[in-house]
Amino acid sequence: MSSVPMETMSSALPPLLSCCQVCESQTGCPHVVKEMMLGTRDEFLYWECAECGCLSLTAVPEHLEKYYPDTYYSLKTREPKFTRKVRDFKIGRAHV
Ligand SMILES: [Zn+2]
Repeated sequence: MSSVPMETMSSALPPLLSCCQVCESQTGCPHVVKEMMLGTRDEFLYWECAECGCLSLTAVPEHLEKYYPDTYYSLKTREPKFTRKVRDFKIGRAHV
């Protein structure tokens, strides 16, 4: 994935997608993600910051409980190994 300057894609983006929620950088790229785990196939717009690598949801859905049933995996067991791998990958890529 390459980072695309905000300006070049602004025509295709909704107005609320403005900057990183963490560092407020305006450099990054949007990702449209379909919810597949529960099978709702609802689409969500995420923003990947080119500065800090943070992935943030640009608009929190109205009915969050719909996406977090009692059986939701993060409420049961955590997977630190996987989380660490993702983090290392991101950090490694940021310095290439
Ligand atoms: Zn950021």
